[in-house]
Amino acid sequence: MEKNSEVLITVEGLHKRFEDEHVLRGVSITIKEGDLVSIIGPSGCGKSTFLRCLNGLEYLDSGRIEIAGVTLSRSLSDQAITRSFMEAAHEMRKEVGIVFQGFNLFPHKTVLENVMLAPVVVKKTPKDEAEDSALRLLEKVGLKGYANRYPVTLSGGQAQRAAIARALAMAPKVMLYDEPTSALDPELVGEVLQVMRDLDSEGMTQVVVTHAMHFARDASDYVVFMDQGEIVEVADGDEIFSNPVNDRTKDFLRHLA
Ligand code: ADP
Ligand code: MG
Repeated sequence: MEKNSEVLITVEGLHKRFEDEHVLRGVSITIKEGDLVSIIGPSGCGKSTFLRCLNGLEYLDSGRIEIAGVTLSRSLSDQAITRSFMEAAHEMRKEVGIVFQGFNLFPHKTVLENVMLAPVVVKKTPKDEAEDSALRLLEKVGLKGYANRYPVTLSGGQAQRAAIARALAMAPKVMLYDEPTSALDPELVGEVLQVMRDLDSEGMTQVVVTHAMHFARDASDYVVFMDQGEIVEVADGDEIFSNPVNDRTKDFLRHLA
């Protein structure tokens, strides 16, 4: 699909602290509609915290995040957590789906029930409509025929694809993934990455924190290297892996297995 040039995500001067730890130190980036962006960087550098901020799951200390017209912002002079911040965070979560490393499916619900739940409960979608749409999404992620299975009977790759279908059921404008394949046996990684490639070809905007370096290199529009709470380098996949500019990027890539 032809990539649209509309900016969908704007992050400006984002700072986040956990007590004394200054975890995000002025992160700024713009991401366009339809982009697939991979974020790489050492453990503890703030990648997960950044994704959680994008999904309205963390309070910002300062800075601004705008996604699809919803703005989360705080300034240093305005340290109260206001009702309007919490409402904006709630709106943000409607526009942004997130998939974590562990498969967060509800174990006592079938795959179909997992996918239908949020549309029915949060969006008040009629059940038959939610079911039709859930079945379509399950087919899209290659789980046709698995609707009535319980999560415990799925492989890790199937469970992660079901988690993607569940996030998609809320019709988000952006999908975030935090190491979606890190808990999978190697032979199951490809099927999950393929779903993300398929969504990319349909024009979904996606931000992926990943250790799957081949995927970052080949499938992303560009790669973001983070270190110590900062975006250090942003470049095309081929460029960043074959010709990193920043010394910290070079050092990180040199130490990869
Ligand atoms: P990454 O995903 O890049 O490994 P994280 O964003 O998970 O990094 O963590 C960045 C830093 O913030 C780490 O030092 C971590 O211990 C700290 N941190 C993350 N979440 C919390 C939290 N809820 N409370 C306190 N410290 C946290
Ligand atoms: Mg993390």
